[in-house]
Amino acid sequence: MANRKVKIATTSLAGCFGCHMSFLDIDERLLDLAGIADFDRSPLSDIKSCGTCDIGIVEGGVCNSENVKVLREFRKNCGILVAIGACAINGGIPALRNRYDLGDCLEEAFITGMGVTDPRVPGDPELPLLLDKVHPIHEVVRVDYSIPGCPPSADTIWTVLSDLIEGNEPVLAYELIRYD
Ligand code: SF4
Repeated sequence: MANRKVKIATTSLAGCFGCHMSFLDIDERLLDLAGIADFDRSPLSDIKSCGTCDIGIVEGGVCNSENVKVLREFRKNCGILVAIGACAINGGIPALRNRYDLGDCLEEAFITGMGVTDPRVPGDPELPLLLDKVHPIHEVVRVDYSIPGCPPSADTIWTVLSDLIEGNEPVLAYELIRYD
């Protein structure tokens, strides 16, 4: 990938954008990145669909039909797919709902829960259909690399990304690997 600008796409599925915020924490290295990479679909570019890319970075697990669609689009169009953060790797916080019946979760959130003033489950057909369980992304598509952490540090993200851009197998020093 060294002789041309690399194309990168990023997305947040069932995540909190914390992994994207950590990505932005690479600070002045963003300027280096801008010199060697262009962003396709990403909250950083506001492009809404993923074109052909070298690297796709996915934050968050899969909790609804829209997540499945976006994730499959990323897998189809990205040469290398990277799961970033605990939610993408194992479902993370959103997957805590997996212990409960989905109907009970909806009832608590929209009917009987504290502070509900207009008790009804949203039913607009435009809303993506919720899946019964929240899935890590590897249960839906093949994943090439995973960066653990909630969120991974900016240094960890930068190390993996710059290795991949240079065409190298990412190598993380012990202190860059964390699971919290
Ligand atoms: S891994 Fe942590 S920081 Fe990243 S999206 Fe999930 S909850 Fe947010």
